[in-house]
Amino acid sequence: MTAKEIRQAYLKFFESKQHHIVSSAPIVVKNDPTLMFTNAGMNQFKDLFLGEAPIKYPRVTDTQRCLRVSGKHNDLEEVGIDTYHHTMFEMLGNWSFGDYFKKEAIAWSWELLTEVYKIPKDKLYVSIFEGDDREGLPRDTEAYELWKQYVPEDRIILGNKKDNFWEMGDTGPCGPCSEIHVDCRPDDERKAVEGKSLVNADHPQVIEIWNNVFMQFNRLKDGSLQPLPAQHVDTGMGFERLVRVLQEKSSNYDTDVFQPLIQFIAKHAGIDYGVDEKTDIAMRVMADHIRAISFVIADGQLPSNNKAGYVIRRILRRAVRYAYTFLNLKDPFLNQLVPVLAEQFKGVFDELSLQQDFVQKVVLEEEISFLRTLATGIQRFDNYTKKQGEVLMAENAIELEKKFDDPWVYSILKDQMVISGEFAFELNDTYGFPIDLTELMAREQRWTVDMEEYNKALLKQKERSRAATAVDTGDWVIVNPDLEVEFVGYDDFEAETEIIKYRKV
Ligand code: ATP
Ligand code: MG
Ligand code: MG
Ligand code: MG
Repeated sequence: MTAKEIRQAYLKFFESKQHHIVSSAPIVVKNDPTLMFTNAGMNQFKDLFLGEAPIKYPRVTDTQRCLRVSGKHNDLEEVGIDTYHHTMFEMLGNWSFGDYFKKEAIAWSWELLTEVYKIPKDKLYVSIFEGDDREGLPRDTEAYELWKQYVPEDRIILGNKKDNFWEMGDTGPCGPCSEIHVDCRPDDERKAVEGKSLVNADHPQVIEIWNNVFMQFNRLKDGSLQPLPAQHVDTGMGFERLVRVLQEKSSNYDTDVFQPLIQFIAKHAGIDYGVDEKTDIAMRVMADHIRAISFVIADGQLPSNNKAGYVIRRILRRAVRYAYTFLNLKDPFLNQLVPVLAEQFKGVFDELSLQQDFVQKVVLEEEISFLRTLATGIQRFDNYTKKQGEVLMAENAIELEKKFDDPWVYSILKDQMVISGEFAFELNDTYGFPIDLTELMAREQRWTVDMEEYNKALLKQKERSRAATAVDTGDWVIVNPDLEVEFVGYDDFEAETEIIKYRKV
């Protein structure tokens, strides 16, 4: 089956079970202060679950474009490194708003996977919530009994609260969930360990594909659980993972979802995909990131220096840097992937092909401006680690002929391989390098960055600029130049990138 057929089969299947097919909501969320980007299929139905909007259709199905690069779900670090976490992905979903519950949801999941998609039954595992006495949460024995009709008991895994209990917040609707995992290891390898249950964390070829959430409780302020008057089902299946399973590939990137992009990149770079892990990762990062970038722009968020605009600018620059560093692509290229992607999504998400030229132009302009500073900064960085490395070798009486990345040398020097915060700050201030980019480059050469010193330097600069009231607006400075600002600390929602928060003074 092609990816298009697989998506279609999902929607048709649930349509045949009286579900109404709805459109994906935009990936950019404009009216919710708690969320920048859609990160799950259920986002657009939040008000229905909370009982704050009327239910028009009690059964709904769709494919939702999602982005997981910030907040509660941030998969950015895995992307390109593993083969099944993406920034932007499609979440196939079916919902019951006060209509069917566990029995039907489980039966239909099983029917779709084993009869329509014909996944061999002995490759499937499921998990159910084991219960949590301390929090007064009961085990989901109901789901266990239902699954038992389909799956041998040694492949029903008991999961903890973290993986198998869903809550919207400290109060409000919540309930157990039940995941479905597929063991994609080659048959002989799989048979060799038969009987030993596996969950996805244990093996890279055993992956979670589908989550069925059963909303059955309402948590009150005092922490107690009340049964919800109307019970709901919320499911989410990773489309790209499903395609990988059905097309029997060992990586999402080998499916027809990603191959058009990967092949286009490989051809342009003159490097084959699948030859070298480093260039493969770069190609995967680019193929992944262009999807996030394009849909975020098409859905109305331009790259900018704050909030959602900053997040997307950062992703774009990450892709450019991988292309530049590992594929030797020194001219703007990422933008050329936009038409390839738009073509792929015709008839699925037409938002992209309708705005193709505009999206491509925005990406091109961003690329041009970033490439300008990148080249100089990278050179400065490499000179720094080389020179500092030599200083460290001299100080530790290691002959200079010894290679700096020699394991023995590394074992001696590793605690001293720290990039000064002043230098990291200079890269930021002069060359527009975000700190996460400096940290990433450092990590690649096995250095770390003195963040304490970096933060001090940053603070000092803010004080200086406030005194002078002239605010520097380098590419990566987040402040609005029209405002006077005061540093108030790091923003949690992007702890990974340590976006810095300012407030008006
Ligand atoms: P994982 O444990 O693999 O990170 P998850 O438990 O965080 O997944 P859910 O929140 O349960 O994911 O989302 C429902 C489904 O969406 C998952 O079962 C998976 O198939 C898919 N999914 C989740 N995160 C990603 C991602 N970053 N890229 C692609 N698919 C994803
Ligand atoms: Mg996750
Ligand atoms: Mg999971
Ligand atoms: Mg899950």
